[in-house]
Amino acid sequence: MLKRHDVIGEFKLATVAETRDVFEGVFGGGGAIIAAKAPGRVNLIGEHTDYNDGFVLPMAISHGVTIVGRLREDRKVRLRSLDYGESAEFNLDERYDASGPRWSQYVEGVARTFDEEYDGEIRGLEAALTGDAPQGSGLSSSAALEVAAGLLIDQLNGLGTGRVEIALFGQKAEHNYLGVKCGIMDQFASCLCREDHALFLDCRSLEHKHAPMKLRDEVALILDSGKSRGLADSKYNERRAACEEGVRILSGALPGIRALRDVSETQFEEFSRLLPDVVKKRCRHVVTENQRTLDSMQALLKGDMERFGALMFASHDSLRFDYEVSCDELDVLNELAEESPAVIGERMTGAGFGGCAVALARRDGLEDLKAYLSEEYFKKTGRRLKIYETSPARGAAIVD
Ligand code: ADP
Ligand code: MG
Repeated sequence: MLKRHDVIGEFKLATVAETRDVFEGVFGGGGAIIAAKAPGRVNLIGEHTDYNDGFVLPMAISHGVTIVGRLREDRKVRLRSLDYGESAEFNLDERYDASGPRWSQYVEGVARTFDEEYDGEIRGLEAALTGDAPQGSGLSSSAALEVAAGLLIDQLNGLGTGRVEIALFGQKAEHNYLGVKCGIMDQFASCLCREDHALFLDCRSLEHKHAPMKLRDEVALILDSGKSRGLADSKYNERRAACEEGVRILSGALPGIRALRDVSETQFEEFSRLLPDVVKKRCRHVVTENQRTLDSMQALLKGDMERFGALMFASHDSLRFDYEVSCDELDVLNELAEESPAVIGERMTGAGFGGCAVALARRDGLEDLKAYLSEEYFKKTGRRLKIYETSPARGAAIVD
């Protein structure tokens, strides 16, 4: 895989004009050529709540995927990746055989999902794409790619698909064509976020609200630990099983609950004695994290960033001690952040066992903070920290 994405800040997203130049070089000029962009995302709070029917609060980041394309008369799809320097091709009238490069399978999955949803009415296209979201770091470059492709296909075919549907089609593509059983948060955030807002999402009903988060004196930092998320899959399944067991036992005392989302903190305090110790800890994380996510939404509505930051720190502790999905690297970062006056809040983000943390920091003293975190992190772990600065970005858009 190409490594150029590793250092954000040194690589600028190819502009639409550059992508269009490559497009025309490969596929020729003329016709109606349009461009779509979609961002990656970072989850601010609400971790491991999605599969418990709970709440999440992500924001779109200023890095993502750009795709430029034009409709074809036939049902062929021809693709060019600027970043991989590769081409791929498939025909919607032929069966899916997963023979294309991985990056093209995301676009193919989305195109085929649209074709299924629209009863085989989708026309072929040619497209060139590029991105600046780091790939495989948990910032959802895959969702950015799916959503950008979905928006482009929708626009080219003149379908008028709703935003929520485009997000759902992206998720469906990832499930059915990539074999990744992802939740809905990533595509939802990429598709529906607004600039200067975080997105509160109820993962059960898909109801969502935009929470104002205009950062003036603050900045959001994504801290990439450089530790790969090796254990995440098996541990993820164990955590899901513990949550299900918790629901099964608690439903004896609380009939009608379907998921941990239905259990309030007060109810949990009353009945948690029924649970085995480990299951109790896992469930306590989910129940309290749901409440923290609701509280975070209220803090944003009041513009209370200090409160928001405190909830982020509390979330990390809960993930570390109750859910036990953190790791030394993420804990080192959390401890360094906690002792830095410039940091308002910080927590691991994503499934855990590596990947990224997210912090809210004051702009004042930012350069010193970044230097301090990088140096101390290296001293304590021997790893190089990557720091990405961002603010809540807009969701996917047609840009031409
Ligand atoms: P994440 O979503 O956390 O970044 P994933 O493994 O889910 O990690 O998705 C990364 C994959 O998405 C890449 O391996 C690649 O196939 C695809 N992808 C993301 N961005 C691009 C891009 N700019 N160009 C081509 N493919 C991309
Ligand atoms: Mg992904």
